Amino acid sequence: MIDAGIQPWLFQIEPYEGESFSHFLGRFRRPNHLTPSGLGQLAGIGAVVARWERFHLNPFPSQRELESLTGVVGVSAERLAEMLPPNGVGMQWSPIRLCGACYGETPCHRMEWQYKSVWKCDRHQLKLVSKCPNCEAPFKMPALWEDGACSRCLITFAEMAKFQKVA
Ligand SMILES: [Zn+2]
Ligand SMILES: [Zn+2]
Repeated sequence: MIDAGIQPWLFQIEPYEGESFSHFLGRFRRPNHLTPSGLGQLAGIGAVVARWERFHLNPFPSQRELESLTGVVGVSAERLAEMLPPNGVGMQWSPIRLCGACYGETPCHRMEWQYKSVWKCDRHQLKLVSKCPNCEAPFKMPALWEDGACSRCLITFAEMAKFQKVA
């Protein structure tokens, strides 16, 4: 039986508060063994997913695309839109940044860390790190944050908190 409802054979995941679109998409794809293009095909939105996961948001995801994605990921278009930068907020997609103290509490990449105006974590009053503070490897895009650790030296994102400077 096929209708516009949620596809029952897919694992559904709950978004974290503040989670970025890239991180959510990767977290949804992995247990469902979907590539970015496979997810795009299922949702009927073409090859946009790989670009979104890199925060290449120009053209910006449309309401229609988000609604199509809802039928696959089971998260409302409104909630998906909350994972995107609000209108008028400048974003930089590189370098990927993080607050290790936040990650230790909630294991996700937060959208606000990529806002141009954001350089510190307001909750912990710590400067964000923009590369591994232990080995200086750049961070992978959040869609690939499977292990929650530096891909080179393997220290965890949570452990990076102790390297962060007080803001
Ligand atoms: Zn924090
Ligand atoms: Zn490292």
